Amino acid sequence: MRELPVTDVQAAVRGLFLQINRRVSPDIEAAMRRALERETSPAARYVLTQLTDNYAAAAETGLPLCQDTGMAVCFLTVGQDVHFTGGSLTQAVEQGVRDAYIEGCFRKSIVSDPLFDRVNTGDNTPAVIHLSLVPGESVRILAMAKGFGSENMSRVFMLPPAAGEEGVLDAVVTAVREAGPNPCPPVIVGVGIGGDFETAPLMAKRATARPIGVHHPDARYAALEEKALERINRSMIGAAGIGGLTTALWVSAEYAPTHIAGMPVAVCICCHASRHAETVL
Ligand code: SF4
Repeated sequence: MRELPVTDVQAAVRGLFLQINRRVSPDIEAAMRRALERETSPAARYVLTQLTDNYAAAAETGLPLCQDTGMAVCFLTVGQDVHFTGGSLTQAVEQGVRDAYIEGCFRKSIVSDPLFDRVNTGDNTPAVIHLSLVPGESVRILAMAKGFGSENMSRVFMLPPAAGEEGVLDAVVTAVREAGPNPCPPVIVGVGIGGDFETAPLMAKRATARPIGVHHPDARYAALEEKALERINRSMIGAAGIGGLTTALWVSAEYAPTHIAGMPVAVCICCHASRHAETVL
């Protein structure tokens, strides 16, 4: 049994959120530069230039990439032979988020009650924490800062099995098309197929963190990703929704076993400021 102080988790979470709010990952930056190179619309070229310049300015100054520094989401994949010491794992994650958002002067975007009070908690907590147990002695932390311009556009479709591949593609394209300019395109689209009403969105959200350019290992799902990307970009919504060749930078799909009577499809839309990173302790 490996002992791991929760203060190590706290420090890792703090570091991840400080990093992702200031820098997009290299794959996203490269994809945006490729989108700029192939774009023919002057207006879309202007937007893409502004966005890529903004990446550079944020990295240089340490200012956040976007004013919406997001809701903090942490996927913790914990080896079952790890014993956390020195306190509560959940509280350590929360403290790591709190430290990062206060130290980075990032916008605090969380309200304690969603319907009536809507009072800001003041430190961007609580975080959304997803925990899964696996064999082993390591702890993998995937941190995401999820802005709600794009989160609000994400959808779940409870399709019948007979909807087939065309039904899935139609759901994905419908979600992106109806979102229009709201999620700050170019977007990254995560698709979760199967599972049930709550696992499909979890798969979809995790899928948005898969590096751009990496397809699903199953060739059928990889082909589905390609088709979805091509159909989304035919919509010509374009950067910032003002028309252009690149509405989405990438589509990543994941699947899970499901019930014989259904085929849940979740579409998680993430803006170009797709802020995520992971570390292993
Ligand atoms: S959708 Fe993304 S880029 Fe747009 S405001 Fe929200 S976090 Fe920022």
